[in-house]
Amino acid sequence: MSAAAAPGFDFERVLDRLAELYHAGDWRVPYLRDHAENPFQVLIGTILSQRTRDEATDVASARLFARYPDARGLAAADPRALAPLIREVNFYPTKARAIRDCAAEIVARFGGEVPRTSEELLSLPHVGPKTANCVLVFGYGVPAIPVDTHVHRIANRLGLVRTRTPEETEVRLRAVVPERYWIPLNPLLVQHGQNLCRPLGPRCPDCPIAEDCATGRALRSGRAPPRPQDRPRRRGSAGARRARGGRRRSPPRGTPTRSRSPSARGPSRTARRRSRRR
Ligand code: SF4
Repeated sequence: MSAAAAPGFDFERVLDRLAELYHAGDWRVPYLRDHAENPFQVLIGTILSQRTRDEATDVASARLFARYPDARGLAAADPRALAPLIREVNFYPTKARAIRDCAAEIVARFGGEVPRTSEELLSLPHVGPKTANCVLVFGYGVPAIPVDTHVHRIANRLGLVRTRTPEETEVRLRAVVPERYWIPLNPLLVQHGQNLCRPLGPRCPDCPIAEDCATGRALRSGRAPPRPQDRPRRRGSAGARRARGGRRRSPPRGTPTRSRSPSARGPSRTARRRSRRR
């Protein structure tokens, strides 16, 4: 699908304003010119960052990479020795094994060099789409769109996508965002999500891209903001029943049914035990 799926959305203006707000320099400059990053450390740092605060990831990564700066060293490490080095991140014993396994695979299959294609990255253990895209963008300067919770939330608020999950958001963004904007999109939206466009209570009146944002425009004109696509409903939930027209699904004929009334169900198991003892 072509990028015409976001007609009228001025990416240049939005990225310019976010870059100006967050002192992010010129987003048109090739990313690696100013931000040369080590692909191995981007990969391992992104695995460590899952469900963890950035500050904790930074502390753990610095300590880990001081001892194990490359895949060969990490592949030979004992996870029990790694765990204390990364103790600030959530699930650190599990992540210690994960990063050792990932490094071992890089050594065994790629000679110790982190691969530079999405397919090869996704073939590594514990590497999902967001991690693979982070390596491509921040490690190799290859256009990709890492979608974390900030990018997912803001893309929906802007009206660029209407999706339920970060994975769906990535697929849709690749269709609607011209490729020349892919690399700056993640760093700028993540900064925006940490500052103004926060998960709860976005500060729309202070936002420099409110005129380009479906949510900002709706709030200004007193309309309800667009909602992300409805989440899948759990079976048996009130929402699922409403979607079926408000009817409770009846059980197959002959199925014994439990009454809602305790008295109609007879004495409880505890009461029966007590009466046997009497
Ligand atoms: S206008 Fe509000 S919802 Fe839209 S990007 Fe700005 S802070 Fe986020």
